Amino acid sequence: MKISDITGIFSRRQLEFISAINVNEDYWVISLKPKKDLHWNAGEHGIFTMPGKRMKGRGWRVFSIASIPEEETVMIGTRTGEKTSEFKKILLGMKPGETVNLRGPFGWYKLHKDVKQIVLAATGVGITPNRAIAMELKKHPQINAELVHSGKYHLFKEDFVKITEEISNLKLHYTVDREATANTLNRLAVKYGNNAYYYVSGSIKSILSMKKLLKRAGVKGTKIINDPFLGY
Ligand SMILES: Cc1cc2nc3c(=O)[nH]c(=O)nc-3n(C[C@H](O)[C@H](O)[C@H](O)COP(=O)(O)OP(=O)(O)OC[C@H]3O[C@@H](n4cnc5c(N)ncnc54)[C@H](O)[C@@H]3O)c2cc1C
Repeated sequence: MKISDITGIFSRRQLEFISAINVNEDYWVISLKPKKDLHWNAGEHGIFTMPGKRMKGRGWRVFSIASIPEEETVMIGTRTGEKTSEFKKILLGMKPGETVNLRGPFGWYKLHKDVKQIVLAATGVGITPNRAIAMELKKHPQINAELVHSGKYHLFKEDFVKITEEISNLKLHYTVDREATANTLNRLAVKYGNNAYYYVSGSIKSILSMKKLLKRAGVKGTKIINDPFLGY
């Protein structure tokens, strides 16, 4: 991580709530429109708050941005779990035109433009920053990527499939159980070794297990970039 990866935390932005769509079971996709021009790097995240909304407990959450600036929308993918937190109840119930505040965007989970091969490995809702990275790949045909997404539900799958119809430098692997995920990731680690960067995102537990697997296959820690979704 470099200092420049986190300086974005000092910028404050206002976004307009557009919609919250329940895409499957407890999975939601939220769309927000920046009130002024906003630039971010694919894969970055921000700290979101809702001005004027009172709630018990923590009034902020960190979310990765699933979209790229060209889409002119800050897209968030999230899930509520069995018991929706008060923060998410308020966020998901917002009305179009209401304001959401953003600190950021910032982060270290972004494309290294000088690499030729990347492996994106995500579990569950950890897929969100990878949607933005996959969109960004359209501009970087020199970077080849393979994505492994593990979970019972594959958020943004239609978007990823659509991207692969437009570009040839992204390959998709969808898995449901832990064994298939581990086998796929291990195969990619053996195939690319330290010639690739490995982006791992999801819960802390799944990140630790994917990092362990990669290191056991001989991948150096410096080749692994992770986005730990604290709170899952
Ligand atoms: C870099 C980064 C990127 C992230 N990106 C995303 C993203 O794109 N999408 C996303 O959904 N999340 C993301 N997160 C995680 C996000 O910030 C939240 O922590 C997460 O969504 C859970 O929020 P929540 O409001 O549902 O649960 P919280 O209220 O924050 O609760 C967190 C956990 O604690 C448990 N819990 C809460 N209260 C209690 C209690 N009283 N007793 C016992 N257990 C309790 C909950 O069940 C839950 O498992 C990211 C986090 C980081 C650090």
